[in-house]
Amino acid sequence: LPKKSLQQLCLAMQKRTSSTEKKMSVILGFALRPREMSLREIKYFSFPGELLMRMLQMLVLPLIVSSLVTGMSSLDSKASGKMGVRAVVYYIVTTFIAVFIGILIVVIIKPGRGNRDSPLSSSGNVELVQAADAFLDLIRNMFPPNLVEACFKQYKTLYSKRVYQRNIMVAVNTTKFSNSSESAIPANVTRLLLQNILETVEEIVPTAGSSSGVNALGLVVFSIASVLLSFRLWFRYAPVGILFLIAGKIVEMKDLAEVGGQLGMYTISVIVGLLIHGLIVLPLLYFLFTRRNPYMFIGGLLQALITALGTSSSSATLPVTFRCLEENNGVDKRVTRFVLPVGATINMDGTALYEAVAAIFIAQVNDMDLNFGQILTISITATAASIGAAGIPQAGLVTMVIVLTSVGLPTEDITLIIAVDWFLDRLRTTTNVLGDSLGAGIVEHLSRKELQSKDSPLQGKAIIS
Ligand code: ASP
Repeated sequence: LPKKSLQQLCLAMQKRTSSTEKKMSVILGFALRPREMSLREIKYFSFPGELLMRMLQMLVLPLIVSSLVTGMSSLDSKASGKMGVRAVVYYIVTTFIAVFIGILIVVIIKPGRGNRDSPLSSSGNVELVQAADAFLDLIRNMFPPNLVEACFKQYKTLYSKRVYQRNIMVAVNTTKFSNSSESAIPANVTRLLLQNILETVEEIVPTAGSSSGVNALGLVVFSIASVLLSFRLWFRYAPVGILFLIAGKIVEMKDLAEVGGQLGMYTISVIVGLLIHGLIVLPLLYFLFTRRNPYMFIGGLLQALITALGTSSSSATLPVTFRCLEENNGVDKRVTRFVLPVGATINMDGTALYEAVAAIFIAQVNDMDLNFGQILTISITATAASIGAAGIPQAGLVTMVIVLTSVGLPTEDITLIIAVDWFLDRLRTTTNVLGDSLGAGIVEHLSRKELQSKDSPLQGKAIIS
């Protein structure tokens, strides 16, 4: 798309989502539920949301690489070491606190005691591809979630195309030779084949290995990122995308009655735990360290928190988190760019809390009484599983297997909690982003000496623009 059309498109979209419309749209999902849309219709309906996810994901990789490189190069090794230690201590301590809160809540509420809900089954509908799907695919593919992979896929296609062309040439020549004298065929064909391979390698390898090839790749990655950044596409498009992401899920959601009983209590336990951790414990920690109003700080993060709620991905939210921390809360860029990319990947308080609650819930459903040692094991493995989970939707559900197997719980019982996971994922991702952001604020406060000191090597370095 030409730049101008992109800008016009963004403006039109922003105009279309006036605040009244936005408010109206929050209930859109519920309003459409009685229509009982087919899976295909839901897919079309959620498409604007899917696009937002892809746009954000596309920016994550270049953003992490560039911010880490610039962040680290603006700090000397001693200062970055101190900052790194502070960040890691904060990550570990807050994750353990989150797990502890989760365990306390689930042990008090006991959502898994009583009648067992029937496991939810997925409908194995197979749908035929329609023309509209192909068209949506075309738009979808304009935003590859992984730019590097997309480049190499393209490169692989190019490579196989060359090989294919050459093989046709070899085939044609072989036919030609086969018409000539029989004894001449093998030698000629072999020579031709060897020549074919060598020429293909010669054409491909220098392009891939030369610095100009690598430079070109970098240039492509950063120019795409800067086009999206310069028009602030996601800030204009995000409300529309988030709206469709959530509304689509509400439409798709199973009957609320089905999610009742134990599963409802389990959901409440996770929500209560996340609220206590996100709105009481973390703000209290922030206040104890900085003596500043934590809720003012959280106010500046609203855009990032809503994006996390909409996308269920701390990595995809990263571009917005950077902006909120740096522009709204004035956190030093040398700190955000150093700690945020790491935090988004390893610091997941919400995920750790949820994993601990889910594991104990499954134990309760199975009438299994856990002893102190097993609860301790759950708290350690839930912390490890949250560190290991990627900042993508429902990654925590996958790493749950580690927690369940560590205490001998049936891993297939994960199916019991799948029905509500799309919703809890949004809430825990929001807590994850909140934890990373408050952590950046605390680390900045603790590192103010290094950041301000005249003798500090940091002083001489240019602030990253
Ligand atoms: N979706 C979460 C995140 O991106 C990870 C999880 O599934 O818990 O932070």
